[in-house]
Amino acid sequence: KEPLVSVRDLKMHFPIYKGLFRRRAGEVKAVDGVSFDVMEGETLGLVGESGCGKSTCGRAVLRLYDITSGAISIDGKEIGNTAQSKLRTMRPTMQMVFQDPQASLNPRMTVEAIIKEPLDEHTKLSEKEKRDKVGELMDAVGLNRKFAKRYPHAFSGGQRQRIGIARALALNPKFIVCDEPIAALDVSIQAQVVNLLEDLQEQFGLTYLFISHDLSMVRHIATRVAVMYLGKIVELAPREALYADPLHPYTQALLSAVPEPDPSLASRTERIILKGDVPSPSNPPEGCNFCTRCPAVMDICKRIEPDYREVKPGHFTACHLYNDPNDTAEFTAGHEA
Ligand code: SF4
Ligand code: MG
Repeated sequence: KEPLVSVRDLKMHFPIYKGLFRRRAGEVKAVDGVSFDVMEGETLGLVGESGCGKSTCGRAVLRLYDITSGAISIDGKEIGNTAQSKLRTMRPTMQMVFQDPQASLNPRMTVEAIIKEPLDEHTKLSEKEKRDKVGELMDAVGLNRKFAKRYPHAFSGGQRQRIGIARALALNPKFIVCDEPIAALDVSIQAQVVNLLEDLQEQFGLTYLFISHDLSMVRHIATRVAVMYLGKIVELAPREALYADPLHPYTQALLSAVPEPDPSLASRTERIILKGDVPSPSNPPEGCNFCTRCPAVMDICKRIEPDYREVKPGHFTACHLYNDPNDTAEFTAGHEA
């Protein structure tokens, strides 16, 4: 399969200002050099704890921000440096489903108006055609058409998320960033919305970047999984490889906290408790970002940032434990002499 989306060395740094005169006092490196592809038709899970930069990354990929640097190609078009005014023509291709359907739906608009809005902005359809399209979209996401004139507050959380999904689908996108689309929903509703997203993916040939802190859910939905820590992707692998054979010590720790559904593997899941807190993204450690908490930390980790590289076919990680001995003379000298 071909990549529909390619991201290279994406950085999203936010300036911090301090004091009366709002002097620039540094920057938050929310996303700090992230590279990945999303293949056509796949779901790439992007996981990590809150504050790791995964939501910012998803928004940056859709160019909801002007990025600090990096390259972003979507459906063959390079949009990393494209001016916001020129991104308009790309908007239909790439859409977002937000975490909180309550906050992302205008309470003063009817469901019909909410779903119709992108059609008003980006198409020349007649009013009748637009209403028909809204009806089709409501069918597709399992909302009863007779509720079209109601307002968001009349719906449950799960139904509101269906409205958000219908709106995201209105312009026949190819790529959708789903930012914790079920995190705000009751557990009983979560599986329904995930199943809906899967059905829609198949029906419309969608490609997803699925952002979540919930590793069990991602295991269910993702084709491949990327793990983020402190603004960087530390590991990316096909789902089976990541869950059965995590390479990066951070991924190992995260997964050790997830109940193992396969009893034959359950014995390996001794809980790894990480010490300390995640450092501030305005002041990340020297060397490896994870060196202040890593159970396997070595001398080199505090000095040299590990390369992010393909350690096994399709399995990428950034960790000195997996350095190619031919690459880093200093490292092999220390360990094989
Ligand atoms: Fe741990 Fe070193 Fe690997 Fe970083 S590079 S994850 S500190 S072993
Ligand atoms: Mg978030």
